Amino acid sequence: MTRPYYIAGNWKMHKTRSEAAELAKTLTARLKDGKHKYLVAPSFTSLETVGAIVKGSNILLGAQNMAAEEQGAHTGEVSVLQLKDLGVQVVILGHSERRHTYKEDDELINKKVHLALNHGLDVILCIGELLSEREAGQAEKVCETQTRKGLEGVSASGLERVTLAYEPVWAIGTGKTATPEDADTIHAYVRGVIARLYDASAAEKMIIQYGGSVKAENAAQLMAKENIDGALVGGASLKADTFVPIAMFG
Ligand code: PEP
Repeated sequence: MTRPYYIAGNWKMHKTRSEAAELAKTLTARLKDGKHKYLVAPSFTSLETVGAIVKGSNILLGAQNMAAEEQGAHTGEVSVLQLKDLGVQVVILGHSERRHTYKEDDELINKKVHLALNHGLDVILCIGELLSEREAGQAEKVCETQTRKGLEGVSASGLERVTLAYEPVWAIGTGKTATPEDADTIHAYVRGVIARLYDASAAEKMIIQYGGSVKAENAAQLMAKENIDGALVGGASLKADTFVPIAMFG
C-alpha cells in the first residue's frame, strides 16, 4: 500500500504571535498545492492565532504537548479541553525534549496518549534513542519499549489516529542526521513491533515520520526509503524558505 507522506513542523519555544502569524500565512499560501499531509505545531500562546490562519487550508493545527489530566490544580499545564477549544487537531507527545529535559516517562506519555485519543485528538508519538543507547547497540530495544509502553491499552481503532515519529535524540537540533539506511532500519523494526502488537495491516498503514536535522538537502533521500513516511521538522520548520522545500519534496 502507499502511505501518504506527512510533514510536520515543530516550532518549539519560538515565535511571538505576530511572527507565528506571518509564517503561518506564508505556509498556507506556499503549500496550498502541496500533495502531502501537513501540520504546524506552534507554541501554546500562538495556537489561536495560527489556528485562525490555517483553518480551511491543507495544514493541520498541532500542539507540542498537553497535560496528562483533563483539568484541575495543575499550575502551568495546558489541558486537552483547552487545546480542543482552540481548534487543535493533533498533539505531539513524548518528544525527546519532554522525555529527557522534563523527565516524562513512558507511563505518563501513555496516559496522555489515551487522554488525547479519548477526546478526539490525533497523536504524533515520538520515540528515539540517546547516543549512548545507540552506541551500546540498544537503539531497537529502546524504540520498541517506547512504542509498546506508549501505546499500551490503545485499541486498533485508536491506533489509526496515531502517527509515530522516530527521532534519534543525538540527531535532534545537532545537524547530525541518521543515514537514510540507518533510519529505515529502525522504521522497519518499529513497523514490525506494530505488526506484533496489532496486525500486519495496522503495521502497513502506520505512518512513521523521521525527525532529526531534516533539511531540504536530505529530505528526499530520507523519504525515498520504504519505511520513512514523512518528517517531523524542528529547526528547518522555523522559516518558510527552509520548510517549504521539505514539505514540497517529490
Ligand atoms: C524535533 O525537535 O522534533 C526535531 C527533529 O528538531 P530538528 O529538526 O531541529 O533536529
